[in-house]
Amino acid sequence: MTTLAELLARRIALTGPITVAEFMAESLGHPVHGYYQRRDPFGSAGDFITAPEVSQMFGEMIGLWCVEVWQTMGSPSPCLLVELGPGRGTLMADALRAARIRPAFGQAMRLHLVETSPHLRERQASVLAAYHPSWHDNFSEIPEGPLLLVANEFFDALPVHQFVLGPEGWQERMVAASDGKLVFASAHPGPSFALLSERQRGGQAAEVSPAGIALAGELGRRLAAHGGAALIVDYGSSQSLPGESLQAVRQHQPVDVLADPGSADLSAHVDFAGLVRAAMLAGAATHGPLPQGEFLQRLGLDARAASLKARATPAQARDIDAARRRLLDAREMGTLFKAVVLSSPSLPVPPGFAELT
Ligand code: SAH
Repeated sequence: MTTLAELLARRIALTGPITVAEFMAESLGHPVHGYYQRRDPFGSAGDFITAPEVSQMFGEMIGLWCVEVWQTMGSPSPCLLVELGPGRGTLMADALRAARIRPAFGQAMRLHLVETSPHLRERQASVLAAYHPSWHDNFSEIPEGPLLLVANEFFDALPVHQFVLGPEGWQERMVAASDGKLVFASAHPGPSFALLSERQRGGQAAEVSPAGIALAGELGRRLAAHGGAALIVDYGSSQSLPGESLQAVRQHQPVDVLADPGSADLSAHVDFAGLVRAAMLAGAATHGPLPQGEFLQRLGLDARAASLKARATPAQARDIDAARRRLLDAREMGTLFKAVVLSSPSLPVPPGFAELT
């Protein structure tokens, strides 16, 4: 069978080098060979593990967060509940189970999932069948209305453009083909160069995700117009910094980005400041980013861990402690991962973010 590397090399030979963003989009989303089309990447046996797969506590905290925010919105019914990139559906299943403490919440929610992978859609359908979700390829397909949105490790999968400063000034990094192999090359910067902040242009390399910025702007516009909040959790920096972060990961190990596209996960640090700027320009309020560990602790993760442990066997109790550490500890996911909220300016500060703003 032809590999994605061969298909891309052929296309590049015909029409010229492609941007890193196009390469990333094809590697992750190609309808046959794309990374997310081919496999279930999660868990200790997969390529990487995400917070909802570490522990049910993560989704539970987010479910309770959604209930509280919905109440401050005036408990609208119906209300859109949207998840971007739900993976195995674990986060949403845990969230909606925890949210049963307010039955009216479950009755008001209309569940919409933004997912391109047919394989993961099937998994989500089996886990979330009771909530009658509808699926979309794109956020823009979702009807307008009051909105609660969750996105965990979604924005890091959105394509980035890369730029490097050479003797001749800024160049855009491209993917070219040489002897049928994919190699990096450079070209005059494309239009997304204009999206870089001055600070991002202060180093030797820079990265920007126009798709992420456009989505944050669209979210900001909708939240300002219809009310609601979007909770984005991902890894990245609070400030827009220079540098590059695109990485390929297979079986928990970094691998060559170009070596075998479609076989490894590609992701890049999320530029939270860039998302915040875009949402604010569109009329939304923003809160955070706050380190994931602090956010989860403020939401009461410690109390939840203690109550789970009270009913656990000694082995389960050790697992709960390990999961708690993994989610909260600064050496694990606690600091690199951050939570940011985009919200309607008419809402009070959301749970977890008080006295930050
Ligand atoms: N939120 C889940 C999964 C994170 S992995 C978790 O925390 O475990 C990223 C998810 O986003 C996958 O479900 C992937 O299929 C989906 N995805 C990636 N790029 C996408 C895109 N451009 N549009 C829609 N879904 C996408």
